[in-house]
Amino acid sequence: MSRGSGSPFRPYDTSFTNDVRKALGIRGLMPPVVESFELQKNRCLEQIAMKTTSIDKYMYLSNLRNTNTDLFYRLLIDNMREITPLVYTPVVGEACQKWSHIYTQPEGLYLSWSDRGNLRNVLENWPAEEVDIVVVTDGSRILGLGDLGVNGMGIPVGKLALYVGCAGIDPRKTLPITIDMGTNNEGNLGDPMYLGTKMHRVTEEDELEFLDEMMIALNDRWPGLVVQFEDFKNPFPSLERYKNTYTAFNDDIQGTGAVILGGVMSGFGRSGIPLAEQRLVFMGAGSAAVGVAKQIVELFIKNGMTEDEARRKFWLVDSKGLVTNDRGDHLAEHKLFFSRDDNSGQQFASLEEVVDYVKPTALMGLCTTGGVFTESIIKKMAAMNEHPLIFPLSNPVHKSECTFEQAMKWTDGKVIFASGSPFPAYTHNGVEHIPGQGNNMYVFPGIGLGAILCQSTHISQDMIYASAAGLAKSVNDEEKAKGWLYPDLRRIREVSVVVAREVIRAAQAGNLDRKKNLQRLNDAELDEFIKKAMYDPCEPSSSHIASRVPSGS
Ligand code: NAP
Ligand code: MN
Repeated sequence: MSRGSGSPFRPYDTSFTNDVRKALGIRGLMPPVVESFELQKNRCLEQIAMKTTSIDKYMYLSNLRNTNTDLFYRLLIDNMREITPLVYTPVVGEACQKWSHIYTQPEGLYLSWSDRGNLRNVLENWPAEEVDIVVVTDGSRILGLGDLGVNGMGIPVGKLALYVGCAGIDPRKTLPITIDMGTNNEGNLGDPMYLGTKMHRVTEEDELEFLDEMMIALNDRWPGLVVQFEDFKNPFPSLERYKNTYTAFNDDIQGTGAVILGGVMSGFGRSGIPLAEQRLVFMGAGSAAVGVAKQIVELFIKNGMTEDEARRKFWLVDSKGLVTNDRGDHLAEHKLFFSRDDNSGQQFASLEEVVDYVKPTALMGLCTTGGVFTESIIKKMAAMNEHPLIFPLSNPVHKSECTFEQAMKWTDGKVIFASGSPFPAYTHNGVEHIPGQGNNMYVFPGIGLGAILCQSTHISQDMIYASAAGLAKSVNDEEKAKGWLYPDLRRIREVSVVVAREVIRAAQAGNLDRKKNLQRLNDAELDEFIKKAMYDPCEPSSSHIASRVPSGS
């Protein structure tokens, strides 16, 4: 890449030694002082603190990533809990809403409807010779914010930053893609600054045809790359279409399922109730609820139940009450698998009635409605269980089915808790408790890393399951003693190694790995291999430095 091309890898980093500067031919092009990483990071933190709005902080960090990639990732990795919310949720949501207005540079690849038939040529324009992973969105359902069109670019960009920070995927080999299929967002269509094509969305069939061409073109240019689909309004068609033909997965469905499954595995371990006696009530029967429930079905099956026995462990409640075969309404396709037929004609309209009837061990909330886990319901859960599992998973925080404080108070501290959104710590009987958060960050980076390293041909259900098992395994004794279901986010790179290892093992077991020589390694050796392969912005290898030498200098 040439100097001044706007490339993310311009070699100006005040931590470069004088020898490096000389070798790169950049003496005089930057201030003379040679700084420690610490000092650099402190300057960044100082600048972030000077910005008064989240969007300004976001823009500062975007610029930093584009001008000094290594420093950006040193900052992110060492301040994971503080920087992640500025790079990804929640701030990325606001950034996407304002994308066309805060825009300064492309950040990724835009593939438009008018490029159809020509996508392979458009891909040629991307400057990187190698790409390991793509995150792609069509902007049709960005977080909970609806159709944002190409303004959704913040999502693939932010998500890939987390792949790099959390799992050490090489930033030079990441590719954010937003496909521009039009938008049904009238605000965008009427905004002179909107950066996407000003037309209504093409049909789903047309979009799928476009995606087909994109998948072929991507795999032609970079054979075997990982493609992660994100924030599609209807995520199922592309997942079904590509999961058995390409190395592809959907984080909204599979990553979410895995991270909640990981928490459930930890939670079941803590409650001590045998799997055969578990009964799970889900408030909500949308795509998230069904996706999560199906992932947990695997746990029961892997432990010896039939699929039919496993699905009978679940009771799903939607806006009309318990989902049953004889409720008298037409059930949406995705609800059928868990629909009950053992209700002897009885119908249960409210969650509380269902709780009385089922006597669940676990209560999962994915219904987008805040506060539906009432005091009465939570107290019943505590009366029926020594340690009830209560997972209010709806986002954002005001849609959470209950708060951590409520769950702790109403169960007298007995609850096993994880939420979708972050909650503050709560002090019960003089002991501070920190709630678990089922953050997809725990799994998707390791899934991507594992798939890349073993060059798997697909991302199988077993690999997704393995990521959850890896996550549950990576909770250490100290964290377990504190009652945590998930590990400390500050250890995310260690966690990603375990997740990647388990994902690789599952790929090997399914004979999906193309890089067969990893099979010879024992777990410790495989972990070592993974760690060595991870991008580490603190230890630029000589090749790393070499790659920064501007061409022609
Ligand atoms: P969705 O498709 O809109 O589904 C919502 C479901 O909840 C539907 O089944 C709906 O019933 C039901 N529902 C809504 N209000 C209800 C009420 N008052 N009482 C009973 N049921 C009610 O949404 P989704 O995509 O599945 O997402 C659901 C939630 O999951 C979102 O808040 C999202 O933030 C969260 N989520 C969390 C994570 C995570 O924690 N990592 C990941 C993904 C999603 P009907 O079917 O009858 O309409
Ligand atoms: Mn998403």
